Amino acid sequence: MINIILMGPPGAGKGTQAKMLIQAFNIPHISTGDMFREAIKAGTPLGVLAQSYIQKGDLVPDEVTIGLVKERLAQKDCANGYLLDGFPRTLPQAEALEKLTEELGAPIGAVINLDADKAELVRRISGRRVCRNCGAPYHVDTLRPLIDGVCDICGGELYQRKDDTVEALETRLHHYYEDTKPLENFYRERKLLINLNGLTPKDELFVQISEIFKKVDQK
Ligand code: AMP
Repeated sequence: MINIILMGPPGAGKGTQAKMLIQAFNIPHISTGDMFREAIKAGTPLGVLAQSYIQKGDLVPDEVTIGLVKERLAQKDCANGYLLDGFPRTLPQAEALEKLTEELGAPIGAVINLDADKAELVRRISGRRVCRNCGAPYHVDTLRPLIDGVCDICGGELYQRKDDTVEALETRLHHYYEDTKPLENFYRERKLLINLNGLTPKDELFVQISEIFKKVDQK
């Protein structure tokens, strides 16, 4: 059973690692950011609500986000484990998740915390491009597609997320340092926190995280 949380500021490499890990370990990737973006694309009431927060870089209210994750974790495909990416981001979310996983009888096995300095996060996020179709991440300098503006994997169109602008990013980083970083203590106290350097080359970082996955899986 692999129930793992990937934590860290925007740009630390969570999304890139998550995409590699879910393929290797065949567990669902539960990204609240992706779920909100899908709801926005589909024009659902959740999407309309989420967009008003996301475009400014603010957090979507806890009760909405917690409800979404509760529903998702109750689905069958999560029974053998999951990778949470971008949740929890606040203390009430972490507390709700703890209660929920206790109820489900399947606790979190590890919290992997990726970090990088602020200048690097800004550089990564401001140059980030994402495939509109499959969500694969690119960068204008360091991870260019073979054909400009076209996803190598699925041929989809690459775009810049609205919240990857400098203004929204400042707000997102502020929320990270104010609301999310304090969760490091929450998980340290529970002996679940594992800190890794988000500046590590992505293939090497993948090996490090994979080792943790294997250990958690054996528990
Ligand atoms: P991400 O793709 O994880 O960077 O998330 C994009 C945006 O979605 C965030 O900046 C928030 O506005 C919103 N969001 C994603 N996850 C959460 C969460 N756990 N709590 C509140 N808002 C969230």
